[in-house]
Amino acid sequence: MNRVFSICLLTGLMTATASYAAVPVPSLKPGTDVPQSNVRAPGVRYFEGAVPFPALKPNHDVKVVRKPVIVIDPGHGGRDPGSIGVKGTYEKTITTAAAKELATKLNKSGRYTVIVTRSDDSYVDHDDRLRIARTGQADLFISIHADSTGNKSARGASVYTLADRAKGRSKRIVNNQNWILDVDLSVQTDPVGDILVDLAQRKTESQSDAFAEILLSELKGKTELVGNSHRRAGYYVLLAPDVPAVLLELGFLSNAKDEKLLKTKSHRAKILSGVERSIDRYMDER
Ligand SMILES: [Zn+2]
Repeated sequence: MNRVFSICLLTGLMTATASYAAVPVPSLKPGTDVPQSNVRAPGVRYFEGAVPFPALKPNHDVKVVRKPVIVIDPGHGGRDPGSIGVKGTYEKTITTAAAKELATKLNKSGRYTVIVTRSDDSYVDHDDRLRIARTGQADLFISIHADSTGNKSARGASVYTLADRAKGRSKRIVNNQNWILDVDLSVQTDPVGDILVDLAQRKTESQSDAFAEILLSELKGKTELVGNSHRRAGYYVLLAPDVPAVLLELGFLSNAKDEKLLKTKSHRAKILSGVERSIDRYMDER
């Protein structure tokens, strides 16, 4: 029935549209009482009460909004347990749980497309972690770890971004793996080569630094922070020159207090709510 009705409606509309051109628009004198059916403005007309057909041309006013992509990378996994706590807690257990919990939080907000580099206890190669971030066009890459040191009293969270000394290594990866970088060439005139990587790195570095600072300000008060909590290192997962990235050390498994806290979901939730807020702030301020 509906189908028949639709066809009738369509036929009727076509007839009405076609016959409209033949109806002359009367010239009106002031005070003339003209039947309303004869007063028509030019343009497409529809039956009264009919639902207009969608425009045939794409409406450029409607932009497809791409959600920012957040890649969460739980450190270690599978045959690589990471550091082992004083009470025997595996780093990979903490990082897997924290990554899942953060992904759930971010998915619930609906603001982001969330990708997790591994969701179970499997081993994922460092190259693959970077590949996942780049092919997913990550707007932000957050690698989650838990620290360990010989100094049993050391505790607290810290955030790492890429060290200057590791930038040459980053260039080698780009060249060896033939990565294509999305860089605005109009801002430079030198021969294409390492300069592309430099440009991408410069932008990415300032984005990573900005996020690291926001993250630390959000973690303050929610968990202990190590002194000099924004650190730099050459960690492999931070090497993509076009993906803003940080490595978050949640605390020290070599410290009994931190180990106990990191095993509790409520403590992780406190830290992760800070991470979520910092992502929101970073995306808002971008
Ligand atoms: Zn680790």
